[in-house]
Amino acid sequence: ASTIRLIGSSQVITSVYSVVKELLENCFDAHAIAVDVKLENYGLDKIEIKDNGDGIKTDDIQFVGQRHYTSKISSHDDLQQLQTYGFRGEALASLCSVSEVSITTKTVQDEISIQYKLTGEGKIKDSLPSHLGQGTTICAVNLFKNLPVRKQYHNTNKKKKVELKKIEDLLRVYSIVKPNVRITLRHNKELVFQKNAQPDTRAAILNVFGHQTVNLLVFCEKSDTETEIKLEMYLPKPGCDITLTSRASSDRSIISVNNRPVLIPDLDKVVRQYYSNCNGCDTTRYPVYYLLITVPTDRQDVNLDPNKTHIYLQDVVSKLLM
Ligand code: ADP
Ligand code: MG
Repeated sequence: ASTIRLIGSSQVITSVYSVVKELLENCFDAHAIAVDVKLENYGLDKIEIKDNGDGIKTDDIQFVGQRHYTSKISSHDDLQQLQTYGFRGEALASLCSVSEVSITTKTVQDEISIQYKLTGEGKIKDSLPSHLGQGTTICAVNLFKNLPVRKQYHNTNKKKKVELKKIEDLLRVYSIVKPNVRITLRHNKELVFQKNAQPDTRAAILNVFGHQTVNLLVFCEKSDTETEIKLEMYLPKPGCDITLTSRASSDRSIISVNNRPVLIPDLDKVVRQYYSNCNGCDTTRYPVYYLLITVPTDRQDVNLDPNKTHIYLQDVVSKLLM
């Protein structure tokens, strides 16, 4: 059975990056407004994510490490009305099977927080009182301890540095998608990234990308009453050139659908086309932009791949861009 678990897990938890992404999204789903990420040895020795969200109820803690347990949806209808990042109940179970996981948590009703140590099967093997405040701290030690090939694959200096950069980019994206959340990233105790709570999207973009970039972006908004799709766009001002390097990197061209950062290559193409048309640049350049798409939840399908980074929209958003 543990082999089967391990095989399944290998798909959700493929890297330190994927652990951080899953745990981070859990923090947002729990309504946290402060999230602190700490890594040791680029996360391979230890990943710790602390939030000040709802916490986990004592009655539920025995289930959270179980495969397919999720407190977020209970029916197909819920999936149609999806408001959360998570819905499959795979991340924690997978993480338990490839590392040593402990969860410290306190809800608003609890008097003190409790730290639970979980087994590889996601069962509670130990619990003790802790001093932490409301919220949840999840700690994963010795990632890929039982997947030596994967561990070795990630354990080169080059790979580790690239991975840390990717994690920083990820936090940058979520910093903008979630303006009101304070986010920090520490690596071996050194502060790598910090974003304070911001009142709105523009302030968040300013905080993350700086004045220079923000001053070159124009905001426009469009909506379609029939499909109820709303599009808020931060695009480079006509005539100015803020491009990325010749290759796309996710950190400065962002598309979100109902606050979920996603990749929509076709839409990205439309934006680049639009940008090059009005700025006279070639389409191989990647402009800085942020498209914030809001659609009725029953018009999206996020259940396409394990990382949920691809998405189908029932109606073509690009029509709106024209
Ligand atoms: P999913 O997010 O798909 O529900 P996960 O495996 O990521 O599945 O998490 C399992 C469950 O653990 C969640 O449904 C939630 O109830 C609980 N949980 C995980 N992380 C947190 C957190 N940071 N705060 C509160 N609850 C959490
Ligand atoms: Mg989750």
